[in-house]
Amino acid sequence: MQKLKSMLKKLREPKAAPSRIIVCPRCGSTHIRLLSSMDVWLTPRVFVCSNCGYTGPICLEVEKEEE
Ligand SMILES: [Zn+2]
Repeated sequence: MQKLKSMLKKLREPKAAPSRIIVCPRCGSTHIRLLSSMDVWLTPRVFVCSNCGYTGPICLEVEKEEE
């Protein structure tokens, strides 16, 4: 019975929120980051990929796979 109880507990426990990462839409690299700007309210956000040199307002957001 103890086993069943722990199984039920596991089912009820909310799954840990998956950590999301952003990847480059061009090359799929995770070496992409949001270019910080002081005029963040005035300019659209720009992502910069250090792998392929992509710069743009679009990035892909994916759930990080468990290792
Ligand atoms: Zn890239």
